[in-house]
Amino acid sequence: MMPHDFSLNNYELLLQRALKEGYRFQTFAGYLAAPAPKAVLMRHDVDGSIRDAYAMWRAERQLGVKATYFIRVHASGYNPFDKENSAALKEMASSGSEIGLHQEVSRYTQGPRDGEELMLREKQLLEAVAGCGIRGVSTHVPKRNRFVLTEDLLERCGFLYRAGADVFNRGGIFMSDSNRKWKPTSLGETIGRHVKIIALVHPFWWLNPGVEAGKIRRFLAEGF
Ligand SMILES: [Zn+2]
Repeated sequence: MMPHDFSLNNYELLLQRALKEGYRFQTFAGYLAAPAPKAVLMRHDVDGSIRDAYAMWRAERQLGVKATYFIRVHASGYNPFDKENSAALKEMASSGSEIGLHQEVSRYTQGPRDGEELMLREKQLLEAVAGCGIRGVSTHVPKRNRFVLTEDLLERCGFLYRAGADVFNRGGIFMSDSNRKWKPTSLGETIGRHVKIIALVHPFWWLNPGVEAGKIRRFLAEGF
């Protein structure tokens, strides 16, 4: 895929192809509860904008696709408590898609104990604003955010899972669209070839096709 292929329209075409091939789109919590034999786990780390995520969710909803949206509470680019954003999150959560926490606690804490306390508070804040239970967590920029999510810690905080856990990746193929470059392979090339696909798709790469990648990266870097 070329960089210009990252558009909402092309995203919809990919979803349609996967549906035609018989995949079921499951949320991460849904997969844990009852894994489908042919599944796409669509993961959206919402780094830059809930409005972009909401636009992506609307496209998915039209096709009956469910996805999991991981939301930050420290983003410089958005505020989940903003009126429009909080309404969007509630609507997304009540549709059968899932809201999770995109954590970055080590930027704000000294040690593991502080980190756990903060993560628990973040979870509670997100539950309040999204009006749903938060069961999953993913890490924002893992190479800069080395707070270790052990099984014990997840349990103490009331999480069911972390998005990178083996249970999701085992027997499947994982790909990410960072900087509008699919790695290690693209969703388009994978559909029909694997029975389990885990796709990390960042909405802003698809919702802002006219904006060059470097500009979006710089904007996001301000929030890192
Ligand atoms: Zn992130």
